[in-house]
Amino acid sequence: MKYLGPHVSTSGGVENAPLNALQVGASAFAFFTKNQRQWFSTPLNEKSIAAFKENCKKANIAVDFILPHDSYLINLGSPDQESLQKSRKSFVEEMQRCEQLELKMLNFHPGSHLKKISLETCLSLIAESINIALDKTKSVTAVIENTAGQGSNVGFSFQHLAYIIDKVDDKNRVGVCLDTCHTYSAGYDIKTENGYKATFDEFEEIVGFKYLRAIHLNDTKKEFGSRVDRHDNIGKGLLGMDFFERFMKDVRFDNIPLILETPDENLWAEEIKLLQKLA
Ligand SMILES: [Zn+2]
Ligand SMILES: [Zn+2]
Repeated sequence: MKYLGPHVSTSGGVENAPLNALQVGASAFAFFTKNQRQWFSTPLNEKSIAAFKENCKKANIAVDFILPHDSYLINLGSPDQESLQKSRKSFVEEMQRCEQLELKMLNFHPGSHLKKISLETCLSLIAESINIALDKTKSVTAVIENTAGQGSNVGFSFQHLAYIIDKVDDKNRVGVCLDTCHTYSAGYDIKTENGYKATFDEFEEIVGFKYLRAIHLNDTKKEFGSRVDRHDNIGKGLLGMDFFERFMKDVRFDNIPLILETPDENLWAEEIKLLQKLA
């Protein structure tokens, strides 16, 4: 079965996220456990935590299909010591917030070398950051998102993801989230039938579907291989409906959260219906 939903707002408190998901008919959702533009936040209070769990029940969405996303400020591969330490501290705090909410995963962008260190050094720092975070927590899986490769962002090739995973000690608590917009922008031709097959064959070979924990299901405004990250609404961008039909019928994407990060939230309810029909 396909579990689908958007990245929802937490305005008014994290407990509102599942209600916002319910409103658009979602069976999965993503959200920020804190303000994504701040380094640190006040801890979640007991009331908010209890209400969050209660509202997940109300929305009938199980923890397996909830994918929190970390702050945009965090760079787990930062070449700068001060920023690296701050990022690691903030990331651990986010992992702990997920544990408080009894969630199983935290999705994050791997990091950027800022042209100050090599790609390999950056990837190794990211793996070390993940090891530190997993050491300080018990139950949350670190879910690495592939990037479009914009600027000095690493993680745009399957080899990068495999390189990081290889250096993570606890393989049971590391996984991958593929963003379809990023994948295409990074130069994987998932749009055509042959390209789709070749891309996911390559993913299986280099990373392995056993590490695939989630998908960000987005269309893209930018052309193939552009290395630019601009999401579009489903069927409105360059990927086109043939891709989404192929994807929704593909059983390899069953039973994991499929998250819409599409720009026009007024279309979410419609997009979910449309995609579920294709499945
Ligand atoms: Zn994404
Ligand atoms: Zn993106």
